[in-house]
Amino acid sequence: MSEIKLITVLGSTGSIGVNTLDVIQRHPDRYSVFALTANTSVDDLFAQVMATAPRYAVMRDEERAADLRNRLRMTGSETEVLYGEAGLIEVSEHPQCHMVMAAIVGAAGLLPTLAAVKSGKRVLLANKEALVMSGQIFMAEVAGSGAELLPIDSEHNAIYQCMPLDFSRGLAGSGVSRILLTGSGGPFRELPLQDFERVTPDQACAHPNWSMGRKISVDSATMMNKGLEFIEACWLFNANPDQIDVVVHPQSVIHSMVEYVDGSVLAQMGNPDMRTPIAYGLGWPERIESGVSLLDLVKVARLDFQAPDPVRFPCLKLAKAVMQEGKTASVVLNAANEIVVQAFLEGKTRFSSIPEVIEQVLETVRLVDAVDIDTILGADAEARALAREFLQRLSV
Ligand code: NAD
Ligand code: MG
Repeated sequence: MSEIKLITVLGSTGSIGVNTLDVIQRHPDRYSVFALTANTSVDDLFAQVMATAPRYAVMRDEERAADLRNRLRMTGSETEVLYGEAGLIEVSEHPQCHMVMAAIVGAAGLLPTLAAVKSGKRVLLANKEALVMSGQIFMAEVAGSGAELLPIDSEHNAIYQCMPLDFSRGLAGSGVSRILLTGSGGPFRELPLQDFERVTPDQACAHPNWSMGRKISVDSATMMNKGLEFIEACWLFNANPDQIDVVVHPQSVIHSMVEYVDGSVLAQMGNPDMRTPIAYGLGWPERIESGVSLLDLVKVARLDFQAPDPVRFPCLKLAKAVMQEGKTASVVLNAANEIVVQAFLEGKTRFSSIPEVIEQVLETVRLVDAVDIDTILGADAEARALAREFLQRLSV
């Protein structure tokens, strides 16, 4: 047996983080936790540290780090507690860590994920916002450092599994004619349009097939999630926007497909449970057990497909447009979306304002070339400020 792989789980207390620890704990002969990180939940991180005894634990701020440190000290734990972005970067690029699961939600994951990429590790990418913000720079760093980038987003993991082994010559050069990106359509696929105004955060977070964090659940309800995934797929697979089609597939059994020039369409299927792509990323190129129940096709009985409705889901159109636009447009889209989704989750704005505010920000902001990370972070900050301003105007 080869050496035990040490893993940093960024965002370990979230939905992907918890599922990652579940898979890791099924394979104590293969994997061990190197570092765990959380934003504010000291109780959750304390429990995870007690269960996995990592070398490091990272909290977002100094005060919570001190709280966690004191509690751990009383148990005799040897885990070292760090904090802030510097702490996240330290555990992401640490020379003793073999793999990093990037599962912080939103732009906060960008710098730690990039640190893992630059240090040439295996990076399991759940944090799609990082790639949406910095696609070109991110993929150039992957190529330059020799990092092994494995997509964990279920659709991209499915596409990866259906791709030819070597697609470095581009999609067309590898015989691929199209990527079919599937999405369930979320909880409001059939909601009468006039009811969108009154949708509550809990309704938006009640996804029919997947259990996920609250931000990505709202993104799934607006289909901005599919929009972000469209951009993510362009970068991961070096695809032109016109080589990717979004297909609504309400059962979430097929996780995406790749079509070849000879007419073959390869699909990856399975129960909707993120432990499958997580186990794929951890074990690659081997397959390891994930704890996911096996697919019962007779019980599934049928698979349906529809074209996405552009009137119901304007966010999808906005995301496709920013991919065509280039420059910092995708940074702006992502930042405005994060602000307005947060406001919706806090009950400060309506569900139907989400696309409206994002569109206003995109129309107002001046786009620049996304030449480096500082430019990207500047565009992110500017878009957030504008989105807050538009939200405030809506509420008066
Ligand atoms: P979540 O909200 O459940 O968890 C987020 C994690 O990030 C938590 O551990 C939280 O403590 C941490 N975090 C949040 N803000 C932070 C900050 N400012 N600084 C440091 N840490 C912070 O989210 P999730 O559903 O697990 O999603 C995580 C990422 O994975 C997202 O980018 C999401 O789009 C992607 N993803 C999730 C799923 C899913 O099934 N949940 C599927 C595909 C992709
Ligand atoms: Mg997905």
